[in-house]
Amino acid sequence: MPDLGGVLDALPLGVVVVNEAGAEVARNAAAVSFTGTRHADVLLNEAVDRQLKLALAGRNSVEQIHLAGPPPTVVIVRAEPFGHGAALATLEDITERFVVDQVRTDFVANVSHELKTPVGAISVLAETLLGETDDELILRLSGRMVAEAQRMSRTIDDLLELSRIEMGGDMLTASVNLAEVVNEATDRVAGLASRSGVTIQTIVGSGDTHVVGDFFQLVSAVGNLVENAVKYSDGKGPVRVSLLPHATAVDIEVADQGIGIPPTSIDRIFERFYRVDKSRERTTGGTGLGLSIVKRVVTNHGGEVNVSSHEGEGSVFRVRLPRTGGRPTGMMGGNDEPRTNGQ
Ligand code: ADP
Repeated sequence: MPDLGGVLDALPLGVVVVNEAGAEVARNAAAVSFTGTRHADVLLNEAVDRQLKLALAGRNSVEQIHLAGPPPTVVIVRAEPFGHGAALATLEDITERFVVDQVRTDFVANVSHELKTPVGAISVLAETLLGETDDELILRLSGRMVAEAQRMSRTIDDLLELSRIEMGGDMLTASVNLAEVVNEATDRVAGLASRSGVTIQTIVGSGDTHVVGDFFQLVSAVGNLVENAVKYSDGKGPVRVSLLPHATAVDIEVADQGIGIPPTSIDRIFERFYRVDKSRERTTGGTGLGLSIVKRVVTNHGGEVNVSSHEGEGSVFRVRLPRTGGRPTGMMGGNDEPRTNGQ
């Protein structure tokens, strides 16, 4: 039977016990490490003292402490009366849960906003349309209604695709020829490119262009990059898609000569729903989710994506995919095991 001190030290929860006179009688290893950093020391120790005083007075209490860090940390301090007039405080690091909750709350708020905007527009247009007799106006209003409905439908499609990719459960791990991925992706954007007057050039470097991964996810990622390159080219081409094999990885570069990205936005473009210029998005039909999909697919494949851009000159997105693939990182607890082809 291990001694109780050893048991307490094995707990991830910080535990501090004081006797009825308020004198400390136990502090386990986790509690020491929680309060071990200089900045956290003061704030957390003060919180523990405050809570223990309340507990000695017979009250249960709880407090959430946000430490600026680095790294930013959120700790819950709880205290309750314990034994004969003594008190016990616990410290729990809830940073991960807090961040997940915050991401979820922000996401729901963003989704609601993104869907409410076109629904609101459709409803106003429909009300105006009611009782309207002017044929030309009817045509214009109904045309705008169609555009808003299509925009909403694109947002829903992208959201579904992003959540499917984030779950990771559907991910295949097979040998994928990236030359085929690039062909398929550019085919998908061909219509948009010809309508925009932008040509797409594909350059395949010499060497093996295979990686381990999921063909459909990779087509989705490369397709989004090529689509953006065309959309934000402002009619100025060409868009160049290069495939560059290396010994342990293959690079995909998508370069355009379009509007570019301002330095203040470059760190944010991979965030969900982030768009540099919200007013442009009406004309480009963007959902702000394309690059989130790219980022997630690349992460699922154990790769990296980065961008360099100059306003008015164009942008280059570079994806590096290791040949061995990655492991899907299901954020929402989906089936994390990669499925293999044929299963
Ligand atoms: P969207 O559906 O709006 O294109 P993305 O997530 O794909 O959403 O991209 C986010 C934002 O990043 C875009 O709204 C655009 O402002 C900017 N962006 C992405 N790709 C390019 C590019 N090749 N050139 C210039 N801006 C780009």
